[in-house]
Order: sequence, then structure tokens, then C-alpha cells
Amino acid sequence: EAKTAGGDLAKTFQPSMQAALERRARLEDDLRRALAANQFELHYQPQADFAGRIVGAEALLRWRHPTDGFIAPLDFIGIAERSGLICDIGAWVLQEACRLLAQMAREPGLADLTLSVNVSARQLAEPEFVGQVLQALVTNDTPPQRLHLELTESVLVANVEDTVAKMGALQRMGVRFQLDDFGTGYSSLAYLKRLPLDALKIDRSFVADLLHDPNDFAIARSVITLAGSLGLSTVAEGVETREQHDLLAQLGCPAYQGYYFCRPLPQAAFLDFVRAHQTPPPVPDAASHR
Ligand code: C2E
Ligand code: MG
Ligand code: MG
Ligand code: MG
Repeated sequence: EAKTAGGDLAKTFQPSMQAALERRARLEDDLRRALAANQFELHYQPQADFAGRIVGAEALLRWRHPTDGFIAPLDFIGIAERSGLICDIGAWVLQEACRLLAQMAREPGLADLTLSVNVSARQLAEPEFVGQVLQALVTNDTPPQRLHLELTESVLVANVEDTVAKMGALQRMGVRFQLDDFGTGYSSLAYLKRLPLDALKIDRSFVADLLHDPNDFAIARSVITLAGSLGLSTVAEGVETREQHDLLAQLGCPAYQGYYFCRPLPQAAFLDFVRAHQTPPPVPDAASHR
């Protein structure tokens, strides 16, 4: 409604901004219908340990828009957060991930795999959040230890007491937590100490130029060392090349995720991938001790 705004705003209110606002309004409308219309799916990106074994995956949301095709999360998560739709969408993501986790738990060879689910600060702030996670675990009969929740440093801006309390409640059930995109947000080391975290994820912006930028190298090394000193694991994200992987391995990074190992895959392709990469079955004698 540019006509109610002042003259300056009217002058700077370019047609391109108008178009962007209209697209956002349209996407928000479409997003409102997307859950009921079954337009979401989860893709899964494998995570490898130090020895190259696949130990889990991150669940990444995909929206199959009826006319625009696949829309990347960065193009709609923000809209979903501002409109509050992220809470229903997030509940669906948790249900879907817990359903797959329960399915994998019943398949020998896949039973130990973990799934990481992204949780937005807005979603965590909801009073129903802990209940939503528990419901997803219980209705699917999912082992809670296999569910990892990825939080970003923005949860610390909102309400630290509330964040710590909710994380604690879920952690006592066995759920684990990772701090996503570490180093890009507002982390204070004092808060880091108070959160019941299992791992830090090194943001891929530090991994991209690891071989050529001494500052990125220094940051990656420091995060791995800091995590180790705090008793936490580290997952490097956005590992695209063998050189990046080898350098991170030299620094002692315990886990990796990125195109070097595998792109995010639809569920069926992901299950095929992990079945093909699972370690050979143990010899009968060793199996009897498990
Ligand atoms: P993220 O949690 O940091 O996820 C990692 C992103 O890096 C993913 O982008 C993934 O596809 C991409 N990626 C993985 N390996 C590589 C690599 O080697 N090179 C490069 N260049 N990129 C790589 P994606 O799937 O587009 O997701 C973007 C962000 O959207 C995620 O960042 C996360 O913050 C958010 N997101 C995704 N799914 C969900 C969800 O279910 N709920 C919420 N709240 N946020 C989500
Ligand atoms: Mg993530
Ligand atoms: Mg990340
Ligand atoms: Mg990211």
C-alpha cells in the first residue's frame, strides 16, 4: 500500500521491490496450503565419521511447488518463520524423520544410523515444542538416541533460560543436540558452556576456502580444538573435495558432511546409498557379543 507511505518511500519503491513483495505474499499463501497438499519431502545427506563410515544423515526439507518446481529451503524457511507456519511444518519434519528412524532401527545394518533435524529458533520458542518432539518419538516408536536436533546460535538471542530448559528435558530422554553453522552467529562462549550440546557443526563458509585462506584454516582448527576441549564432537559441513577432507582429518575433525561424500538424496536413494556403503556384516563370533 505505497499510497499511504511518505514521498521518499514512494520514490524508492521500485517495481522490482513490488514484484518481490508480491512473490513473497504469493509464496506465503501457497505455503499455507503446502502441508495439506503433501508438497513437502525430506531429502537426506549422509554424514561420515573419521574412518569414512556413514554414521547418519541430515534431513533437509524440500518443497515441491505445483507450478514453480522445487523451492530451496532458504527461499521459504524465512517466510515460514515470520508467518509462524514453521511450527506446523517443523512438526511434520519431526514426524517424518522419526518415522524413517524407526524404520531404519528395524533394519540390521542401518539400526545405528542417526538423523539430524533442523529446528528454527521460532519453533524451539513455541511452548508445544518439547511435546511435539516427544509425540513424534512415541507415535513412531523411535529410539530417542538416534534423533539429533540442529539448532543455530540464534536460539541464544531469544531466551536462554527457556532454551536450556527445553534442551535439558529432551536430552534427559536421550535426544542429542548440535549447534549448526557454528561461527556465523552470536555465540558467546559462556552460553556455549551451559547448553547440553553433543557437537558443533563448522559452517561451510569456513570449509570452502580452507586450503587457501589462512584465516579460515585457523578458524576451523580452533573450532575443532574448542569442541574437543568442551567434550564435544565436530561435524564439518560443505566438504566438497578430497583436499578439504584430508586437511580437516589432519586437524582431527571427527565427522564430515558434504558433496565429497554425497549430495542430499530422496529417501529411497538415500537408503540404497547407505545399504551399499554399510560395513560388511560382523563375523558370527563377534555378532554373538552384540
Ligand atoms: P544447513 O542446516 O546448514 O544445511 C546444510 C546446507 O548445505 C543444505 O542446504 C545442504 O544441501 C547444503 N550442502 C551440503 N553439502 C554441501 C556442499 O558440499 N557444498 C555446498 N555448497 N552446499 C552443501 P539446503 O538443503 O538448501 O538447506 C539450507 C538451509 O535451510 C539449511 O542449512 C537449514 O538451515 C535450512 N533447513 C533445511 N531444512 C530445514 C528444516 O526442515 N527446518 C528448518 N527449520 N530449516 C531447514
Ligand atoms: Mg543443518
Ligand atoms: Mg549448517
Ligand atoms: Mg547453513
